[in-house]
Amino acid sequence: MTPTSEPPTPPTTLLIENVHIAPVAGPEIPSGHIIVEGDRIAALGPGPAPLTPGARRVDGSGCLATPGLVNTHHHLYQWASQGLAQDATLFEWLVALYDVWAAMDAEVVRGAATAGLGWLALAGCTTSSDHHYVFPKGRGDLFAAGIEAAREIGVRFHPARGSMDRGRSHGGLPPDEVVEELDDVLAATAEAIDAHHDPSPSSMVRVAVAPCSPFSVSARLMTESAALARARGVRLHTHLAETLDEDEHCVEQFGMRPVDYMDKLGWLGPDVWLAHAVHLSDGDIVKLARTGTGSAHCPSSNARLGAGIARVSEMLRQGANVGLGVDGSASSELTSLAGEMRQALLFQRARYGPHALSARQALELATLGGARNLGREAELGSLEPGKLADVVLWRTGGPFAAAVADPVCALVFGPPPPVALVLVGGRTVVEDGELRTTPHDAAGRAGADAHRRLTRLAAEHGFTAAREIHH
Ligand SMILES: [Zn+2]
Repeated sequence: MTPTSEPPTPPTTLLIENVHIAPVAGPEIPSGHIIVEGDRIAALGPGPAPLTPGARRVDGSGCLATPGLVNTHHHLYQWASQGLAQDATLFEWLVALYDVWAAMDAEVVRGAATAGLGWLALAGCTTSSDHHYVFPKGRGDLFAAGIEAAREIGVRFHPARGSMDRGRSHGGLPPDEVVEELDDVLAATAEAIDAHHDPSPSSMVRVAVAPCSPFSVSARLMTESAALARARGVRLHTHLAETLDEDEHCVEQFGMRPVDYMDKLGWLGPDVWLAHAVHLSDGDIVKLARTGTGSAHCPSSNARLGAGIARVSEMLRQGANVGLGVDGSASSELTSLAGEMRQALLFQRARYGPHALSARQALELATLGGARNLGREAELGSLEPGKLADVVLWRTGGPFAAAVADPVCALVFGPPPPVALVLVGGRTVVEDGELRTTPHDAAGRAGADAHRRLTRLAAEHGFTAAREIHH
């Protein structure tokens, strides 16, 4: 039986009026209306909505309507380990944190994911992926815990069953204690798909298969994961080309650079999206574009770890799909996806000049680009009749933001404006800056509790991670 993840039924008809609409696909409407019926967008257009007795009306005066943002790379459990190893490279940071993460249990994951997804929803994110790759034995169902949190917050969720099987004794980076056996990974991944993956168009939960990275996963697990995902019709995700250390590791251990290695393993294609893709050659960019391989650009995390700046504007010019991601909370503390639009725009311009990325291109990365990464461009990522009613109203006409003449510029160039309304499938998830699906303050506290619990569990195992790493 295919699991269904249908959201609770939303009110029948909802009219949003007097709103500036940036549909991402199609022309902008400076003052228009959106009609939502059930979980879908029924119509949108200029001027007031037609009279519809019994409909709920929302006055969008002073607001910008955009599609809900789609986050295509995250590690929600890391909400519980933020602010550590503050001045470290990726490899130093990972080595400092692996042992702490090994102490997590399902309660930590659930609390971290509740706060992390609530935080994303509050800044207009309506769909999030989550890449979970540390599964200590005997600590409950960590994968299901994230899904429960997503159901509570009310956002669409694309959890990726991650894995690591290449510990230090096999030339990998993680300690042997946090890796799994290959057969256990494949069995658990198949189980996760059977239990949670809902392929229906309105789906609230879709599972992906996501071995962690070339430096923590064997070639065999990479190829067998790809075979499993393709047999089940689910997508593939992994970290790639994040740092120069990874480049060196791949050349040393596999005799080739990361994109060539993935190509050799059958890991490029329209069903694959890669996190980061920072260190690409011209040939790598062409390969990603030609194979339809997507990538999740995570500018804050790349900057926090000093990894570099992805060649996003060149990738877009070559026709490669790019979405955005916040990456794990422990490498981009308290980052919202809305803020990543600004980071992406500024970083591309710092590297290539002011024509490198426009406000509207940055909005497209965060919406339609993300939907393409997740294989949901037919249902999500733009405001069009027939698509799912995942809609955000940003207060770009508030007393301060209104000084910016163009609301899309106000959204992307500045810090994220306040959020008036977030709909997921027509259901209100955020209104006037507060979560409406679950007690707002309790969702935040769940994250702080998860942090305290993980710190205590790690200490019981004899591990602490410092704020600073001593070089
Ligand atoms: Zn990551």
